[in-house]
Amino acid sequence: MTTRYDVAIIGTGAGGGTLAWTLASTGKRILVLERGDYVPREKDNWSTRAVNLQGKYNTKEVWHDAVGEALHPHTNYFVGGNTKFYGAALFRLRREDFGELKHWGGVSPAWPISYEDMEPYYTAAERLYHVHGERGADPTDPPAGAPYPHPPVSHEPRIQQLADDFARLGCRPFHVPLGIMLDEGNPGRSRCIRCGTCDGHPCLVAAKSDAQVVCVDPALEQSNVTLLTRAMVKRLETIPSGREVARIAVERDGAEEIYAADIVVAACGAINSAALLLRSANDRHPRGLANGSDVVGRHYMGHVNSALMAVSKCPNPTIFQKTLGLNDFYFGSEDWDHPMGHISFVGKLDGDTLRGGAPAIAPGWTLDLMARHSLDFWLTSEDLPAWDNRVTLDQNGGIVLAYQPNNEEAHRRLTAKLKSLMARQSKCGVHGHECHEGLFARNLFLGQRIPLAGVAHQNGTVRFGFDPRTSALDANCKAHEVDNLYAVDGSFFPSSAAVNPALTIMANALRVGDHLKTRLA
Ligand SMILES: Cc1cc2nc3c(=O)[nH]c(=O)nc-3n(C[C@H](O)[C@H](O)[C@H](O)COP(=O)(O)OP(=O)(O)OC[C@H]3O[C@@H](n4cnc5c(N)ncnc54)[C@H](O)[C@@H]3O)c2cc1C
Ligand code: SF4
Repeated sequence: MTTRYDVAIIGTGAGGGTLAWTLASTGKRILVLERGDYVPREKDNWSTRAVNLQGKYNTKEVWHDAVGEALHPHTNYFVGGNTKFYGAALFRLRREDFGELKHWGGVSPAWPISYEDMEPYYTAAERLYHVHGERGADPTDPPAGAPYPHPPVSHEPRIQQLADDFARLGCRPFHVPLGIMLDEGNPGRSRCIRCGTCDGHPCLVAAKSDAQVVCVDPALEQSNVTLLTRAMVKRLETIPSGREVARIAVERDGAEEIYAADIVVAACGAINSAALLLRSANDRHPRGLANGSDVVGRHYMGHVNSALMAVSKCPNPTIFQKTLGLNDFYFGSEDWDHPMGHISFVGKLDGDTLRGGAPAIAPGWTLDLMARHSLDFWLTSEDLPAWDNRVTLDQNGGIVLAYQPNNEEAHRRLTAKLKSLMARQSKCGVHGHECHEGLFARNLFLGQRIPLAGVAHQNGTVRFGFDPRTSALDANCKAHEVDNLYAVDGSFFPSSAAVNPALTIMANALRVGDHLKTRLA
């Protein structure tokens, strides 16, 4: 027997979780389907060995790359999706990111909506996700309708010293906007204890603003919202005309269950939503559901990212490192008229984490020692939406990810800028200019860049746009070709910008939520 709902949301991450939260108050019958379970609450949540070295919470699913090599994706299937593990750096895209931007490697296309369309939803998402930040300090900050709801997270002394150095060199470092429930004015009562295992780890004390804590759990307090965990959606089936999704086929504990809803929303993450639509091909949609344009799965983007360690003779005792950002080169510089990207930090690396992707070891150093003395930067440049960078399926329905990096010169230039800034740091009182030992890429064996399996920032595979020939979704994120199908995860991005994607996914879910509330009324 089929059970029918008003809305079915597939996935509980930044997109799906946020949408469930905003629709919960409508009183409509909402079904949330999540392939994973809750993250078990256990000491390993905060173990770098378990999380980073052993990959305890990573999916064990195996994907393949374009030449058939096995890929072990760094992604997580749990209630809350990848926000359970994210670093909670919650950036707005820059206003210019919504327009067309010329890059060294090509064109970053315009979005079908403007920054002004998204702005109220950014403000709402920042409130919902408890973002701590400081407006206007970042020179590329777009205009905002309200101050951040919470003050910025302070720098620890080594990071403050670096911020002062960067400022002396003419840059405008800023406090990264962070979604953590930290009350520095009242540490004894603060839910967040500012620990060293935030980025990449689930929060043992539920103080990270992830989609489970902030959205899914509160939504479930309403009796009209039902969550089914371990419910993997295998296929969406349409009515004979192909214009409506009629059945949602779910595999749950080894058995098939069928559900139906007036509105069906894919929020499985960019790669899995594309895979779901491709698996749902039928006579009316031979290339995959809603894929007359052939864009579903294409234009995969994941950012050009590097983790770089700047090792000093002086130790870096910072516990919570991810507080400093630098966007001075985001749109270019005096000597290079193309966007380069964004510089910030990862959570403080330790020896166990480094053993999972060892850097070139500086002469005379061990991994543990390097980790104690490093500043651990995270560099992000925009990758451009290329037609052949895409998700397809193998003969068993498994995921194949083909990706050729592009716009790499921007990333090389960004790295060179950081190198030059680090070489010009102010004199260390103990070691003079000799304190700085150099920059080391975190992963020697897989090259300088984060490898293909690093799909943390996946986006772009079911792009939205005005033209059904070049996009799968319309400006409301409804499929052009299916009247009751939407997507609200990272798949809708037509371009990736160079800041972290989650806040834009959350804000967009609130925007689509408003559209759905009108439609359901
Ligand atoms: C270690 C790490 C650090 C990160 N740090 C940051 C950061 O600091 N700032 C930032 O902005 N972003 C960060 N990100 C990225 C951020 O987490 C993602 O951009 C965001 O979670 C994507 O949201 P989503 O809704 O697209 O997908 P997800 O959050 O991945 O949610 C998708 C959900 O769908 C479920 N699902 C998938 N397929 C199916 C199916 N067939 N049936 C049912 N359920 C399904 C999954 O289990 C999952 O729960 C980080 C990611 C990682 C992994
Ligand atoms: S306590 Fe704070 S810093 Fe530690 S994981 Fe939780 S939110 Fe992050």
